[in-house]
Amino acid sequence: MEFAYSPKVQELQSAAMSFLEEYVIPAEARYQQEKRHIPEWETPPVIDELKKIAHERGLWNLFLPGGEQGLSNLEYAPIAEITGRSPWIMPEAMNCSAPDTGNMELLHHFATEEVRERWLPPLLRGEIRSVYGMTEPEVASSDARNISTRIEVDGDELVINGRKWWSSGAMSPRCKVAIVMGKSDPDGIPHRQQSMVVVPLDAQGIEIIRSTSVFGYSDSGHGGHAEVVYDNVRVPRDHLLGELHGGFALAQARLGPGRIHHAMRLIGMAERAFDLMCERSLVRFPFGKAVAEQGVFQDWVAEARIRIEQVRLLVLKTAWLMDTVGNKGAMTEISAIKVAAPAMATWVIDRAIQAHGGMGVSQDTPLAEMYQQARMLRIADGPDEVHKMALARRELKRYRSILDR
Ligand SMILES: Cc1cc2nc3c(=O)[nH]c(=O)nc-3n(C[C@H](O)[C@H](O)[C@H](O)COP(=O)(O)OP(=O)(O)OC[C@H]3O[C@@H](n4cnc5c(N)ncnc54)[C@H](O)[C@@H]3O)c2cc1C
Repeated sequence: MEFAYSPKVQELQSAAMSFLEEYVIPAEARYQQEKRHIPEWETPPVIDELKKIAHERGLWNLFLPGGEQGLSNLEYAPIAEITGRSPWIMPEAMNCSAPDTGNMELLHHFATEEVRERWLPPLLRGEIRSVYGMTEPEVASSDARNISTRIEVDGDELVINGRKWWSSGAMSPRCKVAIVMGKSDPDGIPHRQQSMVVVPLDAQGIEIIRSTSVFGYSDSGHGGHAEVVYDNVRVPRDHLLGELHGGFALAQARLGPGRIHHAMRLIGMAERAFDLMCERSLVRFPFGKAVAEQGVFQDWVAEARIRIEQVRLLVLKTAWLMDTVGNKGAMTEISAIKVAAPAMATWVIDRAIQAHGGMGVSQDTPLAEMYQQARMLRIADGPDEVHKMALARRELKRYRSILDR
């Protein structure tokens, strides 16, 4: 078993780390300031400047398996981790942010040539953004079989009717296209009722109602989280992704890489929180000695390091499995890291907040915003309980099959 990264990965790691330290972290204050002075859903200009630099440095679209750099999941993991250290800026600056990455993969693999050519190149160039619309306010969407939006075939067209929410990114004027999941055959077998369709956001019948906040944050940098009504929206039939009624399998295919990318970035978030916590502990002296010298604080440091390393190893193993046996063969591990990584990151960030005292919950560190990001990832892309249920069922299946023998 080889734990060292290849020379190619080490080179990219060091390029990503210098980009982070020289450009991204110094740009964070400007990013916040620009956000205060531009219309709420627009992208701060500093992002475009950073995109140019990332592009010039070869730090672009690295998530794409078989892309220009040709990175495997295992090779991408340590780079994605670094982007998580500045989660509002760095993934977008490197064109590696959700939900675009998953949408690009779907377009690449499952769109018709015409639709792919229309939407994939501008997404790959980072000129536009996209939305993934699955979750609905009216039904428990953690069970994707409940999705009630209708997709009906009408001659050469598909007609979409329904209401979505948590459509991340849709408030941004740069967001031009949605991938919408709906029911095309409500009477079919449960996993063959759904379809996915590509919908230009300027299509007639689309109304963006509002954005939902996350712990009070508008998440404007991410283009918000929109509630969207689709009222008799018509698109040509070739806007279907994959086959009719095959949307459930596509959702599973999409969410595997998306989930591991979140886990990788969460490790980066935890590492940044860890850095901030340790640095602060050396310069604050309550009751006559540095916070770093308090036994209780040292326990947090040790525990945080243990938890980060455990999750990192599990994420790397999952990435390796995805590369070697495919996403399906890695389902158990994907569920495991989807639970373990947000839990680990919320734990570490929580201790880092505590170690900062009042400053920890203020806008003077990234910790409060990081905390909400890590916490919400216990829900988004599937709540913890659903992943645990799926994992437990897979484990128990092995024992059931032994009993049946
Ligand atoms: C910030 C953010 C961004 C998001 N972005 C997107 C996006 O871009 N596109 C999109 O389509 N969706 C998005 N989502 C939605 C997200 O994926 C859903 O909220 C999630 O899948 C849960 O669905 P739900 O909200 O309908 O919860 P429900 O299905 O109503 O579930 C509620 C709770 O029930 C519990 N539960 C569910 N199943 C079980 C079980 N088997 N056992 C025990 N308890 C259970 C869980 O605790 C769960 O949290 C986003 C959500 C957030 C918060």
